[in-house]
Amino acid sequence: MEKIAVYPGSFDPITNGHIDIINRGLRCFDKLVILVGYNPVKTFLFSVEERISMIKDLIGDNPRVEVDSYEGLIVDYVEKIGASVILRGLRALSDFEYEFQMALINRRLDRNIETVFLMTGSRWFYTNSSIIKEAASMGGTVRGLVPDSVFQKLKEKYPKLKNNG
Ligand code: ADP
Repeated sequence: MEKIAVYPGSFDPITNGHIDIINRGLRCFDKLVILVGYNPVKTFLFSVEERISMIKDLIGDNPRVEVDSYEGLIVDYVEKIGASVILRGLRALSDFEYEFQMALINRRLDRNIETVFLMTGSRWFYTNSSIIKEAASMGGTVRGLVPDSVFQKLKEKYPKLKNNG
């Protein structure tokens, strides 16, 4: 049977850290669905449509990866598409408590679904979308932390963003 994992997140925008988790997730699962979330408590730089389109551009036509969005509970989405795993990435210790809470609540909501964590690649330990946006908004170059196509989109939002560095 095909092993499908759902990788949910904000991806605002997708970073090299996310891509590392996607590539490594593909070694563990037959198929990955990247689920772009509408998180009611967060404000986003990019719309859901923009985030999906950036991810799709990067994935190309890999038949093992899909991109989708969903407004409800992640476990409901996972159940709906016949998957059984939620994939998440772990960085610094500061991720742990929130991820632990999420994994426990999701298990309480649906005992048939397991959350699987992959440790970040060491190069991406301190990379997250928020810190990248913060640096970019003040003109700091973030090249190398996001794919070039995403860098260009950040430049459209933050004209001060420098090319070099
Ligand atoms: P969320 O708002 O759900 O945390 P994010 O887009 O920030 O969404 O992250 C989605 C998932 O990707 C989370 O599991 C997060 O821990 C993981 N992730 C984000 N950045 C990295 C990184 N640099 N290395 C490994 N995992 C990461």
